Amino acid sequence: MKSIRETEEKVQKPGPKSNKILINKDLLPSKGKYYKTDLYSRKLSAIEMKELSKVTRESVDRVFNSTIASAIDGIELADVQRNDKLWLIYYLRSITYNDIPMKVQGECKSCGKKDWYDYRLMNLDVVYAEKELEKELVLPNGDTLELRFPTIGDEIEIARTKNNPAYIENIDADVMTVASHISSINGEAVSIYEAYTYFARGKGSALDYAKLVSHLKKFAFGARPYAKFLCSCGEYAEAEVPLTSDFFLPEI
Ligand SMILES: [Zn+2]
Repeated sequence: MKSIRETEEKVQKPGPKSNKILINKDLLPSKGKYYKTDLYSRKLSAIEMKELSKVTRESVDRVFNSTIASAIDGIELADVQRNDKLWLIYYLRSITYNDIPMKVQGECKSCGKKDWYDYRLMNLDVVYAEKELEKELVLPNGDTLELRFPTIGDEIEIARTKNNPAYIENIDADVMTVASHISSINGEAVSIYEAYTYFARGKGSALDYAKLVSHLKKFAFGARPYAKFLCSCGEYAEAEVPLTSDFFLPEI
C-alpha cells in the first residue's frame, strides 16, 4: 500500500490538464533578476476580471495584490518586485484574452499625427532592468548604504506605517518609498521607518538624498500605463492604456 505522502505528491504534480503557464522572466521589467524560482500564471476567471474592471482609487492596491497573489504561482506575493506589479496586471489581462487588441488613440511627438492603434502587450512601454543594482552606495556624508529594490511586501508595510496612528508626524510617502530601497546603514539593518527617519530627521541631508535618488535612477525598471506604436514618419506615437472597465471587460 502506498503511503499518504506518496499519494499526495502525485496529486500535487501538474498533469496534462494543468492550466499553469510558465512566465518568460525576460518579459518582466525586472527580467526576473530578483527571483530564484520559476513563476507561473493562469488565465483569470470571470469574477476576477469583473473585480479588476471595478477598481477605484481606494481599492486598486488591494484588488491588484489579491489578483497577483491568486494568479501568480511559484512566489509569495510579498516577494514580488513592486516595479513588476503593473506589468503583471497587463500580462494577466493579455493571457486571459489571448492578447485581444484594444483600440487606443496615439499621438506622435515628432510629426504630431494622431491615429488609432491596436494595443497588445508587446506595445506596453516598459523600462527593463538592464544592469544589476550596485548594492553599496557611499553618501556624501560618508555613510554607507546597502540597497535593494522594494517588494510588494514593502509596499504593504509603507501603507501600514503611513496609516499607523502611533506615528504622529505627517509621513512623506515619496521619501519613504525612496528610503524603502535601503536595507542597512553602515552595516546595521534598518526598517523602512528607520530608513525614512534617517532622511526625515537624521543624518541624511538633501544632498545625500539627491545622491541616493540619482543612483537608483540608473537601475530603475518598471511599466507605465502607456504604449508605443510605430508612426508612419518612422518615430514612435504614444498612447495611454488606462486600466478602465473596458480594458478588463472588452467589447467583443
Ligand atoms: Zn510621426
